[in-house]
Amino acid sequence: MNVLVVNAGSSSLKYQLFDTTKNVVVAKGLCERIGIEGESTIGAISHKNLITEKEHKANLPMPNHTVATKYVVDALVNAEYGCVKSMSEIEAVGHRIVHGGAYFSESVLLTDDVLAKLELCRDLAPLHTPAHIQGIQGCLEVMPDVPQVLVFDTAFHQTMAPEAYMYGVPYEVYEKYAVRRYGAHGTSHRYVAGEMLKVLGKTEGTKVVTCHLGNGSSISAVKDGKVVDTSMGFTPLAGVLMGTRCGDMDPAVVPFIMNKEGLTPDEMNNYMNKKCGFLGISGVSSDCRDIEAAIADGNARAKLALDMLGYQIKKFIGAYSAAMGGLDAIVFTAGIGENTPSIRAMACEGLEYLGVEFDNEANYAVQRPIKTTCLSKDGSRVKIYLIPTNEELVIASDTEKIVSELKK
Ligand code: ADP
Repeated sequence: MNVLVVNAGSSSLKYQLFDTTKNVVVAKGLCERIGIEGESTIGAISHKNLITEKEHKANLPMPNHTVATKYVVDALVNAEYGCVKSMSEIEAVGHRIVHGGAYFSESVLLTDDVLAKLELCRDLAPLHTPAHIQGIQGCLEVMPDVPQVLVFDTAFHQTMAPEAYMYGVPYEVYEKYAVRRYGAHGTSHRYVAGEMLKVLGKTEGTKVVTCHLGNGSSISAVKDGKVVDTSMGFTPLAGVLMGTRCGDMDPAVVPFIMNKEGLTPDEMNNYMNKKCGFLGISGVSSDCRDIEAAIADGNARAKLALDMLGYQIKKFIGAYSAAMGGLDAIVFTAGIGENTPSIRAMACEGLEYLGVEFDNEANYAVQRPIKTTCLSKDGSRVKIYLIPTNEELVIASDTEKIVSELKK
């Protein structure tokens, strides 16, 4: 089945066309600068046919996501650089959705009821939800007969128990505003945990910590294949130090900085999301590669930023081992998890008491292209694995499964 995987952001739309029968991505691309100046916006599409390697780039009027979706379909069916003969060969669309609140614990077929529930998630992800809805509406207008499936970043975390997802605020606040831990990166955690369980050869009785470390980072405790806890919270600000996000801190720091710096709530929110983390600590960059380069030049603040992340990951591994009553495996994934051996080493160093025998030689010898690699010594009771994430594959396969059922 040809599945179009769509990731709609506020001014962008990333896509991949998957052939789920052959399990390959046949084309991918990106529309940027959608609707920035309204009707007069000139956006950009860059498209690549991954089979023929033919590329297409163009600057075109892109006032909204519907128009962008039309260009995507045009590129996919183009005789020169396209990859399907006609629109009818696109059999399903799978959307990445950042927040499904407590409404969605699995991927679902788009219906009026589903769209109404997604509308209720606007408050929970004010930047992403409107973009997702526009992306969905764009597909509905351009491909009205093609079934659409929504795959939520929060869904995998919906198995958490109340003691793990509740905050210590008055219960009425939870009831009124749905303030609780939701987590994020669930599709990635689900994929790498699933791959790890294949290595372990079982699901029941397994205790796995998955570390998704990218620009945004989150860590999950996965027991018997189900999430029991995760480090991101009501929003993706919580948990470990990130590229530009602060991660966990005493909540009293928030009003303190607001008073001292004269910031409004919106300004403070922006500050915690955009000015903190690696960038704020190092003063150099939010990008881990720049941080490593600065450390090589002797920059102490860059080293502090990396040390903070390594230490915080280790703390989560310890806490989650306690929460699960043991540990069988640790998985590293995403940009930093896959590419930064020093972080993996810092996170795993000193965990011998848990049964971890980390193989630091294997850790530094990881080859490109990066594939699933064991980073623990033979005989280590706890297995350490590097598993490249593949969220698009999960979206494509969930979409295929749901749409195939429809056709039965
Ligand atoms: P996002 O959360 O935006 O999806 P990624 O998973 O792409 O982020 O991770 C980006 C982070 O991974 C950056 O801090 C980057 O420095 C780091 N990284 C290190 N090496 C690489 C690499 N070879 N390719 C991509 N990202 C890398």
